[in-house]
Amino acid sequence: MSDDYVWEVSSKFYDQVTLIDAGGLTIQITCPLCGGDVTEWGFGLLAKYRENIGTRDAAAPCCGVTAPLDTPRYDAPVGFARFQLYAMTPYRAG
Ligand SMILES: [Zn+2]
Repeated sequence: MSDDYVWEVSSKFYDQVTLIDAGGLTIQITCPLCGGDVTEWGFGLLAKYRENIGTRDAAAPCCGVTAPLDTPRYDAPVGFARFQLYAMTPYRAG
């Protein structure tokens, strides 16, 4: 018998392309063109459009580049998808 463990596995469908992130692990967001810190601006847009982010473009406040909201660099893994498979607290023995 394996000691592998997952507390909970769930799935969810979204009507629109949605940000799927790692919860509170994302701390910094940087511009895809100049590398400027756009954390506050990025979190504001993500909070506003989270489940309706689609393929929206926005002009970054650092250098003005207009780019899709899935192109900034996030310091923790994120994805943009219409389906989410979620494993909470996975543990792989040995
Ligand atoms: Zn920039």
